[in-house]
Amino acid sequence: MKRRSLTAILVFATILVAVFTVLKGIDEATRTGRTMGLSVDDENVELTIIRVVPGLPADQAGLETGDTILSLGGAPTPNLQDLLDAASTLTRGKATTLIILREGERRTVRLTPGIPLPWGRLLLDLFAVLGYTAVALLARFRAPNILPSRLLSFFSIAVAVELALPDSVGVIPNWLLVRDVLFYLLTGLQLGLELHLASVIPKRYAWFDDRPWLTRLYYTVGLSAGGITALLSIAEFFEVEVAGALALSARTAMNDVVLVGWGLAVVAILLVQFRLSKTPGHRNQALVILSGVIPWAIYNIVDTVTSTQNIELGTWFDLAQPIVLLLYPVVIFVAIFRYHLFDIRVVLKRSLVLVLVSGVVLILFVAAFEAISSRFGEIEHAGRLQVVFFALTMLLLGLLFNPVRRLIQRGIDTRFFPERIAQRERLAELAANLPSLGDLGAIGRHVVEEVSRVFRVTSTTLLVSDPASGLLVSLATASDEPLGDKDVSLLLESSDLGIDQLRQARRPLSADILANTSPALAQRISALGAETGIGLVNGDTLVGLLLLGPKKDRGELTTEEQGLLRLFSLNVATVLENVRLFQSATYEQLTGLLRREAILEALEVEIERASRYERPLTVGMIDLDHFKNVNDTWGHLAGDVLLQRVAAKLKECLRTTDQIGRYGGEEFLFFLPETGIEQGSRVAEKLRAAVENLPSPVDEAPDLQITASIGLTELRAGTEPPPTAADLIREADGALYRGKDAGRNRVVVAGS
Ligand code: GH3
Ligand code: MG
Ligand code: MG
Repeated sequence: MKRRSLTAILVFATILVAVFTVLKGIDEATRTGRTMGLSVDDENVELTIIRVVPGLPADQAGLETGDTILSLGGAPTPNLQDLLDAASTLTRGKATTLIILREGERRTVRLTPGIPLPWGRLLLDLFAVLGYTAVALLARFRAPNILPSRLLSFFSIAVAVELALPDSVGVIPNWLLVRDVLFYLLTGLQLGLELHLASVIPKRYAWFDDRPWLTRLYYTVGLSAGGITALLSIAEFFEVEVAGALALSARTAMNDVVLVGWGLAVVAILLVQFRLSKTPGHRNQALVILSGVIPWAIYNIVDTVTSTQNIELGTWFDLAQPIVLLLYPVVIFVAIFRYHLFDIRVVLKRSLVLVLVSGVVLILFVAAFEAISSRFGEIEHAGRLQVVFFALTMLLLGLLFNPVRRLIQRGIDTRFFPERIAQRERLAELAANLPSLGDLGAIGRHVVEEVSRVFRVTSTTLLVSDPASGLLVSLATASDEPLGDKDVSLLLESSDLGIDQLRQARRPLSADILANTSPALAQRISALGAETGIGLVNGDTLVGLLLLGPKKDRGELTTEEQGLLRLFSLNVATVLENVRLFQSATYEQLTGLLRREAILEALEVEIERASRYERPLTVGMIDLDHFKNVNDTWGHLAGDVLLQRVAAKLKECLRTTDQIGRYGGEEFLFFLPETGIEQGSRVAEKLRAAVENLPSPVDEAPDLQITASIGLTELRAGTEPPPTAADLIREADGALYRGKDAGRNRVVVAGS
């Protein structure tokens, strides 16, 4: 069936529930309003009172057992039907006259009919009806449009309609027959729907998928049991021969076999589903719903056994029925809130807020309107003023709506969902702080630690895409367990289909989903201990990937958490991209040192500062010796590795206030603020020695040694005009080449 028609059926059924509920209320009020509290002997021709309920109107009017009723409210009552007809004209609280015969004497008795409404039972009934209707509507309109929610929706609305069926509907003749037919058909439908639902909660397992005939069996058994009983009721009503006895046995069969079998079958199916569930979240869903169904199954069994054995259980058992029925919607709500059944709690929360807001605003409005408009009575032209006032109130209402909503939303959040607020605030704070962390490594470490903490997951890994190679490389990992042999620095190709899926989805995807497009990716993600991945996308480019492990409580990420994660991922993507753009403009790729332009710019700034304050400054140029030979002998790659190592070593030997950059191929420019040439020479000597002592990067040539020649110069205080960066570099270069000429691997100071 189409989605639209399903919805139409549900809406129609909901309206029916509403109408029935009102009719039932009216019926109950009229019935109790006419109650006199007596029973008559309907076997004999004379209407002799056989029971007077103590404390009720008949008793208060002084009627006794043994009295014979002759007329009620002026209408003679020769038989039961006349009495019932006469009684149907009674109204609550309006006194009427009864003529009775007591010990051969005619007496006139005044009686005021009506007993109070049984509020307790009515409310329980109403709650059960409302509960089922609410579950039906939520499952239809707010849960994902999947089979279990559709089944739950139609099952619940069928129960709600059945519970709401009134005992009389004035305009429909023979309503009792219609009611019985509806009742049996609805019950049969429920049987099919509930067995079907139990078989797919928390998810479908092989046993059910392998037996497609089961679904048909469920509905066939349910609808034929209901249909046959309904048909027999009709036959019985029209007094078709033999139907009486048959109908009775069919009804007994329905009660004794079908109802009990149904209850047991649901319990059994749910037990199987529970046993098959692998995650605790799924197990809990099955268990909670089971706990709602078991009391109902027990109730049916007890009811059947006691009625076939003629055991009286008292009125408490009747009262138990709505309670037992109410349990089901209650557990569904528990399952929704606690175990993410269909994950519609965000919506529930929103609906709660909306209902409260509308309520509060409406009450404020009515109160204000009442309070002020009651004064208008004394004023002339009240009518016109009222219109003005009405308009003003509407305006106020519009203005109030949002602040009140925010206030209530906040109240509900802090009261019921405090951890959500904390989570959101922490993420906002984290996102705001990220750029200030500066370099990529620090940002990565902070992101993974905080994401692990905020979402309470066992591990988080951040991968960034390397623009040069197009690979995703892991930047940082936070994990509860020591990573052991897990390959943290996994490389993923951005051309992978799964990676592309993550880039386009822009929301968290589970490894299960990714496995459909890229089994390899899913497998690598799982190997990292991760369950969920979200692409960090900036514009259209995939900047990185965030991988989350399972939650510590073994639950799943809620819809709200997924939303938060999505927003956060956009933020991290922007921050990462900015940092990287900044870094690639500033830092050189192979060595990670400042680029030529960057070190020159820094040097200019430092020269200006040092000259103004007349502070010492040493500038040096390093050139590796015979580096071409290394390339020629061992290849460019070995040369690159060596360059990286030299760069790292040089950086390591300098203070953080010193600066070094890659000036050319294997030439490095550095400067030492607040350092004179003597001290500077010692630093340079240290650099030279460090390079000389670097281990060989080539396995086949452990003795391979690289050396560097270094030229130094200083900024002499008071030189006017102060030298430019180019001047100082020329001086250092001159010294460097003197060093090369003098045999390399040495430090030479300009002008010495
Ligand atoms: P000298 O002692 O006179 O400096 O000898 P040299 O071989 O080092 O001579 P020079 O400094 O003139 O040559 C620079 C060589 O360094 C040339 C090139 O092969 C190598 N080189 C420059 N940049 C790179 C690079 O990024 N990677 C690699 N592997 N080699 C580079
Ligand atoms: Mg050179
Ligand atoms: Mg060289």
